[in-house]
Amino acid sequence: MDSLANQVAGWSPTMIVGVLGLTVSLTLGVAAALILVWRRGRALSASLEDATSHLDEMTLRDGLTGLMSRIRFDQALADAAQRAEQQGTSLAALYLDLDEFRIVNDAYGYALGDQVLVEVARRLEQIQPRTEALMRVAGDEFALVVPGGVDEALAAVHQVQQLLARPIVVEGQPIQLAASFGVALYPQHGARALLIGHAAAAMRSVKRMGGGAHAVYEPVMSASLREQAEMVRDLRQAVERGSLQLLYQPKVDAATLQVTAAEALLRWHDPRRGVVRPDTFISLAERHGLMHDIGRWVVDEACRQAAAWLEQGLVMRVAVNVSGVQLRDAAFVDHLQACLQRHAIEPGNLTCEITESVAMEDTRVTHEAFERLSQAGVHVSIDDFGTGHSSLARLRELPAAELKIDRSFVADLEVSDEARSIASSVVQMAHTLERRVVAEGVETEGQRDLLVEMGCDELQGYLFARPMSATALGLWAMGDPDHSPLRFRESLYRDTQPMDLAEGGASYLDTVPMTLG
Ligand code: C2E
Ligand code: CA
Ligand code: CA
Repeated sequence: MDSLANQVAGWSPTMIVGVLGLTVSLTLGVAAALILVWRRGRALSASLEDATSHLDEMTLRDGLTGLMSRIRFDQALADAAQRAEQQGTSLAALYLDLDEFRIVNDAYGYALGDQVLVEVARRLEQIQPRTEALMRVAGDEFALVVPGGVDEALAAVHQVQQLLARPIVVEGQPIQLAASFGVALYPQHGARALLIGHAAAAMRSVKRMGGGAHAVYEPVMSASLREQAEMVRDLRQAVERGSLQLLYQPKVDAATLQVTAAEALLRWHDPRRGVVRPDTFISLAERHGLMHDIGRWVVDEACRQAAAWLEQGLVMRVAVNVSGVQLRDAAFVDHLQACLQRHAIEPGNLTCEITESVAMEDTRVTHEAFERLSQAGVHVSIDDFGTGHSSLARLRELPAAELKIDRSFVADLEVSDEARSIASSVVQMAHTLERRVVAEGVETEGQRDLLVEMGCDELQGYLFARPMSATALGLWAMGDPDHSPLRFRESLYRDTQPMDLAEGGASYLDTVPMTLG
């Protein structure tokens, strides 16, 4: 600094002024430039902020309808699934696709079509209780998640149908919409990541059948169309070549543990797929017209087996499951009677299990079928009771001797007050109507004890026996566990005497050890 001061001291005044002037203007220039850069920076950061918030907006919202973006939807779904896991409850996904929306676009143009989609989104937002997540997946497809199981999902489907029933008026044009719905449940139908895909697969199965309805997911719906076609082809061959088999699961008297009946459960042995369970192929068979042949085979085979067991001295009913498609077939009861005659089986020794939802169908064909079954003297059981919507009046007039409490209630007995009170009111109502009550899906001793306490008449489930081959069941019931492929306790026939629990006698629960398979 000193040397600079000495140098400056030697400068002439003009030089000093000149240098100062230059310095000032340089400083001003730099300052101006800095201000400019700062201003620009400000403007830049503001526009960057705008851009990011716009981007955020884009990633968080659907540009057209303002509904959640996929990212936000996935996050909301993950949160809801976590809550459901913690509370031990379930979630339902609905996938909906507007029917023939292409026509709206073609007739009125895309701008108007867009306005319709915006209005659909507004209506979907009105669903009560509020959806956990709602998005427009693409085009005219929407996905939403509601808490609860199949009942809550179907209630939501109904609400959406009501909301869409009111025409949407755009630019003075009233537009009437309909939609196809698919429903899938978490955790019942698999991992959370698959939930929306499953609901979409269910929706597509509705579309293939003409749309305007809803379907609940079944595993076969995930198969591609080609796989489904292959499955139908193979199943048809299996029916022709006799690769179907009936397994039998006993029903036992709740008080005496005596075997009262054996329910025939269908299995398909496929060389490539292994053993296929009915949940996978029954609905496919129904949709492709194979159910008549399959159902006829089941009845004939069950009657043949009942005759063989009678021959061996085993007296019990044999139960078959009858699907809606079969019951609606005018020739069904004739065929059934022919089978009974062929194998010399008393009609009262054959049970037809018909699901509550089919039994409650208020059509002339189902009324007639029930009437004829009753006249023939066949034992009728209402299956999956509690899952459909029964009218007491219809139930009273139905010639059914037995109600089967659905296994979903049995499964929840030990953890849910609601399941307990439903099961117990089913028992009371059935007894008032003089019907017997069977509980299916009994897996634990706790469930069994509660059901016995409620007064349930018969029990069925893995606790007693899994479905098994006719030979295994014969050996098991005769008390030859060594030859049974499954390890069960000794014959229920030989060592279990009826006893009156109400009289305070020692309960069989104390005296008979159970060995589970
Ligand atoms: P379903 O009539 O409700 O039959 C009871 C189902 O519960 C059977 O499944 C049985 O294996 C299973 N199960 C039995 N005990 C227990 C238990 O303790 N715990 C659990 N978790 N499950 C138990 P499956 O054999 O897979 O049959 C499924 C459904 O397929 C049946 O439900 C019935 O609706 C249908 N089905 C089976 N066979 C036939 C048939 O011949 N014709 C028709 N139309 N439907 C059939
Ligand atoms: Ca059944
Ligand atoms: Ca059932």
